[in-house]
Amino acid sequence: MSPEIEIELHTKYPKVLGYINEEGTYKTRLWGGFQCGDGWHQLIDTLCASIQARAEATGLEVHATQIKEKFGSLRFYFQGGDDHISGMIDLAEELLSKICEICGKPGQKKTVQGWLITRCDAHTPT
Ligand SMILES: [Zn+2]
Repeated sequence: MSPEIEIELHTKYPKVLGYINEEGTYKTRLWGGFQCGDGWHQLIDTLCASIQARAEATGLEVHATQIKEKFGSLRFYFQGGDDHISGMIDLAEELLSKICEICGKPGQKKTVQGWLITRCDAHTPT
């Protein structure tokens, strides 16, 4: 994901993602940054907002440890949380398997050169 989007998400959701800034100062358990395309930005933003709101309402600790694309869908690994938060993540992972990872428009899972990816028609490699 673009570095400026990653910094924006860390700034908005430090309880979930930890802290990172443009000077390279960081304190996060998120390994390897956001390993997916910018097209998933909006839904990941909404997911992190919902998780952080749940954490603040309940006092639960929750820390994202890995966020990446795998087999055309999102994998969001975390420590802490509860069943409520797990359900939010399940829903987001399911929705993102129908959204183009490049542009965020409706897409579908496709196998391209042996890789399972989620793309709209315009962003499907030929
Ligand atoms: Zn697209």
